[in-house]
Amino acid sequence: MTRYIFVTGGVMSGVGKGVATASIGKILQSKGFRVSAVKIDPYVNVDAGTMNPLEHGEIFVTDDGTESDQDLGNYERFLGQSFSQVNYMTTGRVYDSVIRRERNLEYGGKCVEVVPHIPEEVISRIKKAAKQDKADFVVIEVGGTVGEYQNMLFLEAARMMKIESPKRVLFVMVSYLPVPPNLGEMKTKPTQNAVRTLNAAGIQPDIIIARATQAVDEPRKRKISVSCNVAPECVISAPDVGSIYEIPINFEKERLGEQILKKFGARPLKRDMKEWTSLVGTIHSVKEPVRVGIVGKYFETGDFTLMDSYLSVIEAIKHAAWAAKRKPEITWLSAEKYEKDAGAAAELKSFDGIIVPGGFGNRGVEGKIQAIRFCRENGIPYFGLCFGLQLAVIEFARHVCGLKNANSAELAKKKDIEAVIDVMPDQAGLLREKKYGGTMRLGAYSCRVAEGTIAFKAYAKKEVSERHRHRYEVNNEYRKLLEKHGMVFSGINPERDLVEIGELRGHPFFLGTQFHPELKSRPLEPHPLFLEFIRACVKNKKPE
Ligand code: GLN
Repeated sequence: MTRYIFVTGGVMSGVGKGVATASIGKILQSKGFRVSAVKIDPYVNVDAGTMNPLEHGEIFVTDDGTESDQDLGNYERFLGQSFSQVNYMTTGRVYDSVIRRERNLEYGGKCVEVVPHIPEEVISRIKKAAKQDKADFVVIEVGGTVGEYQNMLFLEAARMMKIESPKRVLFVMVSYLPVPPNLGEMKTKPTQNAVRTLNAAGIQPDIIIARATQAVDEPRKRKISVSCNVAPECVISAPDVGSIYEIPINFEKERLGEQILKKFGARPLKRDMKEWTSLVGTIHSVKEPVRVGIVGKYFETGDFTLMDSYLSVIEAIKHAAWAAKRKPEITWLSAEKYEKDAGAAAELKSFDGIIVPGGFGNRGVEGKIQAIRFCRENGIPYFGLCFGLQLAVIEFARHVCGLKNANSAELAKKKDIEAVIDVMPDQAGLLREKKYGGTMRLGAYSCRVAEGTIAFKAYAKKEVSERHRHRYEVNNEYRKLLEKHGMVFSGINPERDLVEIGELRGHPFFLGTQFHPELKSRPLEPHPLFLEFIRACVKNKKPE
């Protein structure tokens, strides 16, 4: 008998609804239940793959190649489980399948209507996730904030599920309580209004998670309780924290798990947060820093810096740093800076290691290449993720193999360059037909790891599986030349003979992957390559 917990947002977005959803899942998992999680994105985009990361944050890719929202990454990291297509839906995807079924006469000649057919499709997708993950509990995050037109049909689905099985559906609202600096007092009114808006959609929250900069005190808990119609013990105080991984523990201090189980009339099967608690202990106790610079371009937005574009990279660095008992210190380095002034790359010396993460298009590329060159020539640990491998190959081809015009077919016309990075033949056809959505080389592919390499030292395995999202690859016609000059292709996809990992001998750590290892790193299971990179960073650390 699966139970369903809907998590909706009130007041404003960006207050950690995804992490709250993942934390609820974690708590239930720690009590011995099987948990699934579903993210609902109200966008018309069929998936997140066509969105600019500056607009929507990182595109998280699952094993089955679903290009989803970064929250799916949070669910995987918190729960230590892998999810798939059934765990993610958007307005576009829901409509797409309803329209397809209508075209196939699957509605038996009926008039297909927005209500109830769209919410019914939503419900059937949620149930599919429950079945696939054999879940005792499914936690469903409804993207956006209550009151927006775009999530109405999803709230309608939630309401319909509650009527269908009142004892198996629970509503949690993640709210926000501002403390206006001129008043210095925490205000509950926006939460009251948000609950009223949710009520207008026919939904009464059972639990309110009260996000704020500080803990919610008793008088305000009582006020929320009375005005929003929830028991005082169901108002959960959720102040800002240093690390998101503390949140399940903080929720437990507020007895959130107990309240949820009580509402469902269920009992915990066990209690086990040991490993997680010890992780949080490490996060608090590590003091000695490891300094990693990320050279990218998707973080400057107007006057603000948005780190969401590289969320999994940041988390993967942290996981590995904590495992190495170091305090991660991450600095954003704008690639364009090194483009204008090649000498500026000298500042990379002050970091223990440098990462060039995934990317698309020309902006900032020459700056990234300058940065990679500096790392290669100065023995600074370098880790390239996807685009970061491709650019490392270009840099090596240009400055070591003497191919001055080496470049990627993504970035210049093929007739003008030595295309050491070329488009994959199947991808060229898709691009010609302008088939962009969901067509990259996506999801898990196997990689054979060569013994005696950095990659093998890290994995200690001959065969691994990693997640991909790209259209271009190392051009096999240049492999021999690159190898002759010292590049080692230590990971190869056996089915198609594609380069998956490239590294350099005689350098403390210079390695790039065609896949995205960061997508599989979890706090309790750091990724082996990130761990090896961080170890190299620790070794490289100059005395202060
Ligand atoms: N733009 C490159 C490609 O499509 C790299 C993609 C990435 O970094 N994810 O192959």
